[in-house]
Amino acid sequence: MILNQPKHRHYDVIILGSGPAGITTALELSKNPALTIAVIESGLLEPHPTIQTLANVQLHGDLPDDYFPMHTQRCFGGTSTIWGGFCAVLEKRAFIAQAWPIPYEEINRWYPAAARIIELPDDAHRQPVVSIAGTSELVYKPFYVSPPVRFNKKYHSFFQHHPRVDLVLGSTGLRLITGGRTVTALELRDSQEPQLPATSLSADTFVLACGGVGNPRLLQISDVVGQMPVGQGLMEHPHLYAVAEMYLDRDRLPVGAEEDPQIVHALQLSDSYCIEQGVLSFSADFNLQQMTPTVLLGKRREMLHTPVTIRAEIAPDFRNSVGTGDQRNYLGVPTPRIDFHYRYRDLARESWDLFGKALLRSGLGRPSILQPEFRLHDGGHLMGTTRMGLTAADSVVDSNCRVHTTDNLYVAGSSVFPAGGASNPTFTIVAMALRLGAHLASTLKGNAHG
Ligand SMILES: Cc1cc2nc3c(=O)[nH]c(=O)nc-3n(C[C@H](O)[C@H](O)[C@H](O)COP(=O)(O)OP(=O)(O)OC[C@H]3O[C@@H](n4cnc5c(N)ncnc54)[C@H](O)[C@@H]3O)c2cc1C
Repeated sequence: MILNQPKHRHYDVIILGSGPAGITTALELSKNPALTIAVIESGLLEPHPTIQTLANVQLHGDLPDDYFPMHTQRCFGGTSTIWGGFCAVLEKRAFIAQAWPIPYEEINRWYPAAARIIELPDDAHRQPVVSIAGTSELVYKPFYVSPPVRFNKKYHSFFQHHPRVDLVLGSTGLRLITGGRTVTALELRDSQEPQLPATSLSADTFVLACGGVGNPRLLQISDVVGQMPVGQGLMEHPHLYAVAEMYLDRDRLPVGAEEDPQIVHALQLSDSYCIEQGVLSFSADFNLQQMTPTVLLGKRREMLHTPVTIRAEIAPDFRNSVGTGDQRNYLGVPTPRIDFHYRYRDLARESWDLFGKALLRSGLGRPSILQPEFRLHDGGHLMGTTRMGLTAADSVVDSNCRVHTTDNLYVAGSSVFPAGGASNPTFTIVAMALRLGAHLASTLKGNAHG
């Protein structure tokens, strides 16, 4: 049901946040018929200007002033109400290097179901690394484009009619109440009537799905931090639009690289070449529209001529962080402080340099030089702030997305990504939320009472 107030005082599972991560976790959890579930959402069915100010942050560093709140939406459906729909599976490289503490197959097996949720073509879950004849240094990587699915529209009727899953709108989670390793309750405040006293709601299990800033903030405010690097290692995908040009031999592009409104074509350094060269990955998008006469290796010929957009990977850097600011929002909660600096400009150049040489060696084409004064744009992909790992010394959640220092608190969303690759995150967020929902649905018994 869709409600303004919780129907029960206790649920089996409370999920905080109704973006792709929260909704997908609820969908999968609801398959256990013994569980009552509440999804608590700060916003309303439609965006509300006052509630949206809860997404404000104090920004220090390189992100533009309008980055927040533009990049996190406080309403039912979360940021899926404005996302662009670009999707690709994560590269295997970060799993081979054991940055992720789970095998790639653990995520890969959930991609087909995730593809159905975000309405991608059947092929979208396959590793898109199609090799290019004559080189092991480059791969062709299609990005699949979701319609884009707006989770609020698609799942409105699921929440409206489901007897055991309540969507509670207009309630903001203030902090978690804990006793030892157990989270016992969530303190809530009405997002529209902040003068009303805070209320609390108890549950056996809690899932934070409040985005890359909201998740670490809830842990920090609730003092669930200990030695864990909560809020540290914030990653983005810097986007460099039309930063260079490429000439490509259209006849040597892999079969399938054809005009298709659901595919954006890209070339990428292969995983093995990135590992060999010790560089981070990036993808170089190209389009198929313009053929131009040019000279390649001394021969004049007709080639595909395309502007290039780069989507770059950055490494986690614990100095890029989410912490506590010195102001308060209208609910009385300290505003997040974000410190973020791009430190990888040279790496983008280095990777592009390697990419250009690999392109020439392969005979597939040639690039122009990268514009000397390129401007980095951000992608709105907030990753890494409650990273997954083996121990509380260097990570926040374990391989099941449970916060190390608790027995019943889980995190959903790209904040758990220990490495972000060069793929947009939402496909993986949905796959991981399905995995978390299935894990909880199979382990929880359910005993809620009203
Ligand atoms: C302009 C733009 C374009 C994008 N394009 C793409 C793209 O092409 N491909 C891609 O993969 N990704 C894209 N993204 C990123 C994508 O939108 C996010 O990865 C995705 O929405 C994250 O899902 P989430 O559920 O983790 O978080 P969100 O969607 O941010 O949802 C979090 C929810 O939690 C709620 N919440 C937060 N704090 C509280 C609290 N204390 N109490 C109660 N509720 C709370 C919020 O109101 C919100 O509804 C884009 C983002 C932007 C901004």
